Amino acid sequence: MKRVRTITALRATLSPIRSAGRRVALVPTMGAFHDGHVALMTAARHEADLVVVSLFVNPTQFGAVEDLARYPRDEATDARRADAAGVDVLFAPSVEEMYPPGFATTVDPGPIARGLCGDHRPGHFAAVATVVTRLLGIVAPDLAYFGLKDYQQVAVIRRVVADLALPVTVRALPTVREPDGLAMSSRNRQLSPDERTRARSLYGAMQGAAALRETGVREPAALVAAVVEALRATGIAAEYVELRDAETLGAPGCGRPAVLALAATVGTTRLIDNIVLPATDWST
Ligand code: AMP
Repeated sequence: MKRVRTITALRATLSPIRSAGRRVALVPTMGAFHDGHVALMTAARHEADLVVVSLFVNPTQFGAVEDLARYPRDEATDARRADAAGVDVLFAPSVEEMYPPGFATTVDPGPIARGLCGDHRPGHFAAVATVVTRLLGIVAPDLAYFGLKDYQQVAVIRRVVADLALPVTVRALPTVREPDGLAMSSRNRQLSPDERTRARSLYGAMQGAAALRETGVREPAALVAAVVEALRATGIAAEYVELRDAETLGAPGCGRPAVLALAATVGTTRLIDNIVLPATDWST
């Protein structure tokens, strides 16, 4: 696996591959790899001729209250895991390479970035859309891989790719979970043992709502209330719990699947998760 830090070096590496008509895949990441990241790399490996993983902890997508400095970083271990997953190129640029002097453009993804995490992290999705658009411009991949753990992020990226007619196919992969159901996340390593135990109730609470839906409960508010209550029982105050149309992220549409999404701070670590509930006649 080749490690590359500049756009010039990356383009020089990719140029002969592209000339030969080979398919290039990009997996954008912020590092601290876990099995969720590896699943994206493995899928990319199966589908493309050359796999690029970008590793960039994007400072602009962190809010003032979040600690950018606290975000886990371990490039040496990440490089070993990416290599073992069959990645060809690890693109790990500096902040200056990604945001050179004079950088001024922002990609605003519009209403899809509002609600859910968008309301609690002002500017977050514009920052994500901007950095992903720049990465797509740098790598010009045929395929780009994202995880549905970050459900709204995937919706934002699909919107941006469609609206800006970016020549890339977006693949979204299911959430990889720990054996007890907790969604894998780089942030999980910030949890204390007690917080880690309590964090399992995020998935458990959503599973409880899914079971309620199976018993015929169709009111979004009732399902949301059940999740909030189950979290409260383990001492976790939800930042938000919402049921939204799985595609538009608007109000749940009758006869359409819906996504149950939540964010909660466990100790001092903000975690998100979601599950998709099958289509039904949501009573709104
Ligand atoms: P991150 O490094 O957290 O920015 O994540 C990089 C990519 O991995 C994003 O597309 C995430 O949605 C995806 N990802 C993170 N956690 C998981 C997971 N548990 N399962 C599947 N994909 C994930």
